[in-house]
Amino acid sequence: MQKLIRIGNEPICTNCRFYAAANSEAGECRRFAPDHGDDTRLAIWPLLAAGDWCGEFDVRLVVSED
Ligand code: SF4
Repeated sequence: MQKLIRIGNEPICTNCRFYAAANSEAGECRRFAPDHGDDTRLAIWPLLAAGDWCGEFDVRLVVSED
């Protein structure tokens, strides 16, 4: 049987559904659309440390097999 379980207990970026990890220490916040930067036309999301947090935190759920 499958069930959804929460990842981590702390409300920090690495446990947030909007966090896109680049490595074990840092990643990007995908909560909102990216900034287009200046005239480079490159997408820029905020770069965060895994232990950062903000008021937009939402839990990351994953499927677990029993
Ligand atoms: S900055 Fe906020 S919304 Fe973005 S990943 Fe971290 S806790 Fe989640």
